[in-house]
Amino acid sequence: MATAFPLEPSLWAATAAPALPTPPLAADVSVDVCIVGGGFAGLSTALHLAEQGTKVALLEAFEPGWGGSGRNGGQVIPGLKYDPDELQTMFPGAFGERLAKFAGSTADSVFDLIKKHSMDVPLARNGWIQGAHTAAGVALVTQRAEQWAKRGVPGARALTASEVATLLGTDKYLGGWLDPRGGGIQPLSYARGLARAAVGAGAGIYGHSPASAMKRDGSRWKVTTAQGASVTADRVVLCTNGYSGALWPGLERSVIAPNSFQVATEPLPEDVARTILPQGHVSSDTRQLLLYFRLDHQRRLMMGGRGPFREPTSPEDWGHLERVIGHLFPAAAKAPIAFRWCGRVAITREFLPHLHEPEAGLLINIGCMGRGVGLQTAMGRTMAEYIQSGKSDSLPLPVTGLKGFPLHKFRRLYLSAIIAWYRMNDGGLA
Ligand SMILES: Cc1cc2nc3c(=O)[nH]c(=O)nc-3n(C[C@H](O)[C@H](O)[C@H](O)COP(=O)(O)OP(=O)(O)OC[C@H]3O[C@@H](n4cnc5c(N)ncnc54)[C@H](O)[C@@H]3O)c2cc1C
Repeated sequence: MATAFPLEPSLWAATAAPALPTPPLAADVSVDVCIVGGGFAGLSTALHLAEQGTKVALLEAFEPGWGGSGRNGGQVIPGLKYDPDELQTMFPGAFGERLAKFAGSTADSVFDLIKKHSMDVPLARNGWIQGAHTAAGVALVTQRAEQWAKRGVPGARALTASEVATLLGTDKYLGGWLDPRGGGIQPLSYARGLARAAVGAGAGIYGHSPASAMKRDGSRWKVTTAQGASVTADRVVLCTNGYSGALWPGLERSVIAPNSFQVATEPLPEDVARTILPQGHVSSDTRQLLLYFRLDHQRRLMMGGRGPFREPTSPEDWGHLERVIGHLFPAAAKAPIAFRWCGRVAITREFLPHLHEPEAGLLINIGCMGRGVGLQTAMGRTMAEYIQSGKSDSLPLPVTGLKGFPLHKFRRLYLSAIIAWYRMNDGGLA
């Protein structure tokens, strides 16, 4: 079950469009599809199913967007951990081609939905810049840009160190690349916009309704909430990602779910803001423990990155990110920090999102890999298509067996060792 770490300290919670009321499930209902988890994946699945006339009930433990979807960096970045050529090697033939195309389309899914449903979401689509912090990183991003350019992405190109310095406002990178498909959104407003659109299309969304048990009920499924009300459905879709608990055996152990941490400054003075990402790009870098940063629509500088595996206990748990601001952007070093928050991502063994179908009528989506704004929106669309068509080629990834993460019991230890190793390789900055 998800823990009750509050949403209130985040920048997004303080500035989001109002939420549609989503009262708890008060009585038993019978629907076609029950979705558990109200992040981008669950909400997008609900919206796309409801738009096609499927009767949907979505159960969310807290409120739509409470999880990673309402706490992230709001960077809409296409692509997966692997570049398109690698994907086509990993999945030869038409499947790999389709997967690479899917990976390249995920940012469009977000901006298209925001436009289609006239969502109240501050956004800017000026592109994503990935700064390279080492010579190996420069080589990596150069071939990344080439691969996307070869696949017809206009404007995808490698950047020199001086171009990166101009576009980011810091001279700490050796090069980079520009992906013009990327952009920035207010993610909690977007989650709430998806919820509003799904309800408008006929979906039932029930907040503060943690699913505490699920079992087969003849040929159907029965999902019961902690309050005792139940949803009976032909199919269940689990979209609980980094907040997965004991609802389905083995699911929580199939991923590692560390927190990613972020800080946001008070709005910067105009003359300082003009020197940082002056053309409105969003950015993250090639570090293994990557740093991600952007300005919001009110000139606040956000910096995100690693943090302790446990839930934070004091502002010092974000201290490293505040020091990174001073290192990359000395002009903003003294800007007061207005918000500190974090949220869980879900990492799989192969660094690819997972789809599982452990029993007939039960579909599980897990493993956003920290890049889920576009990915989970697009996954929701494809899961809805799969449920409606029954055709597995609607899904961008193969359905695999659910396996525990090796050494899951020792994940804190394991992750601390990995973080220490990565920090050393990353030059110790964050
Ligand atoms: C700090 C941070 C920064 C990030 N930055 C970026 C970024 O800039 N760009 C990007 O693309 N991605 C980013 N990500 C990743 C992205 O936010 C996630 O991939 C995405 O939001 C995952 O969506 P989801 O729907 O799969 O899961 P979530 O949004 O985590 O939703 C899961 C939901 O399931 C609910 N739940 C769990 N158990 C139950 C239950 N038993 N019953 C009912 N409900 C339940 C939880 O309450 C939660 O709301 C970031 C993530 C974090 C945490």
